[in-house]
Amino acid sequence: MLSQNVIRELTRIAGEENISTSKEDLICYSYDATNQKFLPDAVVFPKNVDEISLIIQMANREGFPVVPRGAGSGFSGGSLPVEGGVVVSLERMNKILKIDADNLIAVVEPGVVTGEFQWEVERLGLFYPPDPSSLKFCTIGGNAAECAGGPRAVKYGVTKDYVLGLEVVLPTGEIINTGAQTLKGVVGYDLTKLMVGSEGTLGIVTKIVLKLLPLPEATKTMLAVFSDIRDAATVASKIISSKIIPSTLEFMDKSSISCVDDYASMGLPADIEAVLLIEVDGDRDLIEKQAALIQKICRDNGAKEVRIAGDKKEVKKLWQVRRAISPALAKLKPNKINEDIVVPRSKIPDAIIGVRMVAEKYNLINANFGHAGDGNIHVNIMIDKTNTDELRRAEKAVKEIFELVLGLGGTISGEHGIGISKMPYIGMELSHTAIDVMKKIKQVLDPKGILNPGKIFPHTQLTSCNSNLQV
Ligand SMILES: Cc1cc2nc3c(=O)[nH]c(=O)nc-3n(C[C@H](O)[C@H](O)[C@H](O)COP(=O)(O)OP(=O)(O)OC[C@H]3O[C@@H](n4cnc5c(N)ncnc54)[C@H](O)[C@@H]3O)c2cc1C
Repeated sequence: MLSQNVIRELTRIAGEENISTSKEDLICYSYDATNQKFLPDAVVFPKNVDEISLIIQMANREGFPVVPRGAGSGFSGGSLPVEGGVVVSLERMNKILKIDADNLIAVVEPGVVTGEFQWEVERLGLFYPPDPSSLKFCTIGGNAAECAGGPRAVKYGVTKDYVLGLEVVLPTGEIINTGAQTLKGVVGYDLTKLMVGSEGTLGIVTKIVLKLLPLPEATKTMLAVFSDIRDAATVASKIISSKIIPSTLEFMDKSSISCVDDYASMGLPADIEAVLLIEVDGDRDLIEKQAALIQKICRDNGAKEVRIAGDKKEVKKLWQVRRAISPALAKLKPNKINEDIVVPRSKIPDAIIGVRMVAEKYNLINANFGHAGDGNIHVNIMIDKTNTDELRRAEKAVKEIFELVLGLGGTISGEHGIGISKMPYIGMELSHTAIDVMKKIKQVLDPKGILNPGKIFPHTQLTSCNSNLQV
């Protein structure tokens, strides 16, 4: 528990209306998209960098954990206060500070919602590509902390490719600026890259300088339907090997799409096993040629049907189906183990077939979808976690899936991070020495271990504040 003195001091720093210790509010900040729950002792809504710095300085003096939080949409438990303490919600630091169309950069506060930022820059003919499917609610701060990707990563890369610089409050309360407001900059170590993807364990990001692009002239969206999952996986890797880089190449298997209500109204054949959602963008003439070639690759390799979206309404509908999958999977079973594997693109067929075989071996329901264009597939094992036998089988299956992925030259997380969910598996991919180097970096920046403890690596708990209540 936090002492009354600490609560009084937090209230003095943030203002009475920007702190809560009421059970109702604490519950709202106790979970993320993993559906695991840990109650914090307080939640604070700072309005600026100085307040965050003061809160962190106090945490160092008093020895309580501080956990940064954006929208709580993370899939690996990164924003969960697993050791109690204070959740610092960045939701009130949500201003777009600058959009500089001449230099193609923007400066934003961390609580800006990703989709709102995208719409804002697109109104000016500019483009911010990173598009996690959660874009309607996740924040740019959370995206930077997780190095979020999305369907467009196949052509445009992920969040780290767009972050030029940061303002960060270090775990000691000191404030630094990393990177620059220019496209180039090699002064000293690249602390921007170190912070991006560090899952809120090395600093709280309070300002982000982002690179923008000109908005592509046109896009063309296609849906290819397959009655054999192998054909869909093969087409995904053949499109890339034919030297076309679509702006989106999404894979969805039958179990995934059949959960989405809107799918029923699309009038697709009944015997489908998988679909690919493919988009090309850029110069009008070029995308016509690319779309024609992609359709040919699909038809030559077993597609039953290739649909081209005729207008914006149809495009929107196709994307609605794709974005609705993740929450809709709850129809299959109440809980999901949601993995985020990546394999070299030529190995996608091996990965998808291999995952299915593991699921069958353990008699588990499995739904796969995701960003096939960059080899990143969201593998979902659907379970009822009150069924201990099913849970045990699922855990075995996950370990075998990771072995399969690493054997194919892949990685166990493409965009969701390690958090608490993948902590037990980090040693399957990284050597002891690599993990040790990372822990030393954490130790140097956060000597008292106050910032987001208990994440990424197994960690010694703080003793002075240890509510750790599971709701
Ligand atoms: C339906 C759905 C679809 C999704 N699709 C995708 C997808 O396509 N691609 C993808 O990459 N992810 C996806 N995600 C996962 C999630 O949305 C992303 O990881 C996102 O980046 C999290 O942002 P957030 O604001 O919700 O952060 P939170 O979940 O609140 O926090 C995530 C991590 O960032 C840290 N953090 C948050 N803000 C800051 C800050 N200002 N400074 C330092 N650390 C901070 C937290 O401590 C935590 O470790 C999806 C999630 C859902 C629920």
